[in-house]
Amino acid sequence: MSDITTCPSCESGTFQVFYEAKSAPANSCILLGTQEEAEKYPRGDIRLGFCPECGFISNVAFDEKLTEYDGRYEETQGFSGTFNSFHKALAERMIERYDLHEKDIIEIGCGKGEFLVLLCEIGNNRGTGFDPGFVDDRIDSPAADRIEFVTDFYSEKYTDYQGDFVCCKMTLEHIHPTADFIKTVRRSIGDRLDTVIFFQIPDTTRIIEDCAFEDIYYEHCSYFTPGSLARLFRRCGFDVIALETEYDGQYLTIEARPSKNEIGTFASLPEENDLEAIKQGIADFPAKFKKMRSAWESKLEKYKTDGKKVVLWGSGSKGVSFLTTLKVPDNIEYVVDINPYRKGYFMSGTGHKIVDPEFLKDYKPDVVIVMNGIYCDEIGKDLNKMGLDPEMVAL
Ligand SMILES: [Zn+2]
Repeated sequence: MSDITTCPSCESGTFQVFYEAKSAPANSCILLGTQEEAEKYPRGDIRLGFCPECGFISNVAFDEKLTEYDGRYEETQGFSGTFNSFHKALAERMIERYDLHEKDIIEIGCGKGEFLVLLCEIGNNRGTGFDPGFVDDRIDSPAADRIEFVTDFYSEKYTDYQGDFVCCKMTLEHIHPTADFIKTVRRSIGDRLDTVIFFQIPDTTRIIEDCAFEDIYYEHCSYFTPGSLARLFRRCGFDVIALETEYDGQYLTIEARPSKNEIGTFASLPEENDLEAIKQGIADFPAKFKKMRSAWESKLEKYKTDGKKVVLWGSGSKGVSFLTTLKVPDNIEYVVDINPYRKGYFMSGTGHKIVDPEFLKDYKPDVVIVMNGIYCDEIGKDLNKMGLDPEMVAL
């Protein structure tokens, strides 16, 4: 398969490749039952291209055939108190801002359904969630009888489902033909111009600025900053109301309404003026990455020389990317995760075993490398409760 060269967001710019990670595991959240299966999981190349026209970044080598989203896809963050508080506050904010009471909510890519359940419980709303990875035995909510789940990708065949609020969280970054997808959403809404659209994705501004290579992985084929996201929505017929970053700069959200014109007409927001800064960030990225990779590799090698036992905390995509991007010495044997559904499985690509926090009581690691710094407090408390006080290092 040859690389794409034309930007699928603005459909005019030509990609400039600035980062490459060959043979990355094609999926990093999937549950893999044996070390062998994990090590042999299909791989694909990541070649990130930057579109100088609209600022969009895409894995130009992405092959959709390598993706797998089904019940084996275990991505929920719903076992973390930090995440749950954020999620609840977000639902409350949307309900208040858009008066979502006894309304119809659609969630595209609802995962295990936690956010849709929150919106329906708190605002007494009715919901429909679409996700091929939905597992229907986990919903335990007084709102359950007002929520329907469709275990499938959202597509044009579901345009009969109409919502007052259409949300889509952590999904657009998995979709390669970005403008095609947003145009589908726009067509599905038709002339219901009072519909509110809410999308949330990772904010690539931070990934580029901090050189957060652990946030670059195969499932994420599309990377946006506030500017490229707003430009896409506007081009596809939405009036952009707000752009926000949250969760420590990790998430980027957009709120919009369908425009009565083919192209959105609302004035551009100040947050969108990021194209020049991103261009500079992209130019600096290769050298920054090289430096960062060698710093991490020296650090990990030093732990080994010092005879320290090291574990990673967080077995999701960041962990897989961290382990496969760096040369990791054999003193890192385990990856810890608080999601009980991931315990006993193996990390895609490297085959590291996933253990629960309890495991550390006997293992007594000297160092815990935390894949997402926002959870350091929570993890530190969990470790202390078990009488452990290892060195904690966050990415
Ligand atoms: Zn573009």
